[in-house]
Amino acid sequence: MPAATPPPILPGATLGILGGGQLGAMFAAAARRMGYRVEAISDAADCPAARHSDRLHVGSYDDGEFLARAARALDVVTFEFENVPAAAGRALAAVVPVRPHPDVLFTTQDRAREKAFLVRHGFACAPHRVVRSRDDLHVAVRDLGLPAVLKTAAFGYDGKGQVKLTEPGCVDAAWDTLGGGPDGPRELVLEGWIDFDCEISVVAARGLDGSTAAFAPSRNSHAHHILDVSSVPADLPQPVLTAAVETTEKILAALDVVGVACVEFFVTRNGRVLVNEIAPRTHNSGHLTIEACDTSQFEQQVRAVCGLPLGSTRLVAPAAMANLLGDCWFPTGGHAAREPDWAAALAVPGVRLHLYGKTEPRPGRKMGHLTALAETVDEAIEHVRRSRRLASRG
Ligand code: AMP
Repeated sequence: MPAATPPPILPGATLGILGGGQLGAMFAAAARRMGYRVEAISDAADCPAARHSDRLHVGSYDDGEFLARAARALDVVTFEFENVPAAAGRALAAVVPVRPHPDVLFTTQDRAREKAFLVRHGFACAPHRVVRSRDDLHVAVRDLGLPAVLKTAAFGYDGKGQVKLTEPGCVDAAWDTLGGGPDGPRELVLEGWIDFDCEISVVAARGLDGSTAAFAPSRNSHAHHILDVSSVPADLPQPVLTAAVETTEKILAALDVVGVACVEFFVTRNGRVLVNEIAPRTHNSGHLTIEACDTSQFEQQVRAVCGLPLGSTRLVAPAAMANLLGDCWFPTGGHAAREPDWAAALAVPGVRLHLYGKTEPRPGRKMGHLTALAETVDEAIEHVRRSRRLASRG
């Protein structure tokens, strides 16, 4: 007999969020609006989620006893950050329901395991090889050809732990930088270069009952490997969008996700969608759902992990989101930070400002974002870019 679906976790209950970043902060804000208490678990006291949570537990993600103590008063835990030891998820799961299940974290936090999952289930992704030694790397380069991208298997994000290999002469140096090191060889993944037409992502939720709801695919442009601008609708042929949404829903089902996850795709020049990576949580490319959709990705995460009906993902208006990196505080490249001109940014029609409360702007650090709604997606992109330019006094 199939296990009975547990009863929903209703407003008034206490939700835990593992990780203290902006994704946790926006989850907490959505949950508290709906009448939940939120407790964040973070390794830093000065974190964005602290401002929006009823309580913050500060300790090490390696400390199972700390995690178990923090979880005692929680009704469910979800996460906003996957670079925590998989054991942390398991320590929590011994005390409280963790959604998605820690196995999802285990699979998706390591590129080699994630790729093996994709291949096992027949999801198309970039050609790749797992690399554990200098010799492996030379063999992989011979197999896949150049250019190629070498990535650390674990603990990489926003382009950290990646190098593009363009000629045979740079292969040894790339191994020395990423693979070799004082702690012994690190596991890497070499990916063949994808000459993509564009990048898109799909944020989707899956409920306790297996129901799924996907947001419209968003088109993403990156700068220096960090997401720069996302926009919806993605302005691609319907079969491409459908393939991306269907693949995402199948991936969530294959991983048995309860919660929200995001799948990033390369769209090739002949219209194929290749999975780039899976994030088992809300995603930067879904921030525009706060203003642009009936239900935001954060409310959807609350609904999914609490066993409530998923909300409508209908797009209310074309939208674009631009990240505000610490670089906006250093418009001339100097060392003295200067507060961006928020008044000028907000004078652009349809623009909303989100700042995460991080006190120290650093180049490449995500400090906030801007979202614009407009009549057309091109107009939304133009408005959000103009707003950011005005903010940066550029
Ligand atoms: P990732 O951290 O794997 O999402 O990579 C960051 C960005 O680097 C991607 O969004 C792409 O813009 C680029 N990139 C990563 N892998 C590849 C690849 N195999 N071929 C071409 N571009 C890539």
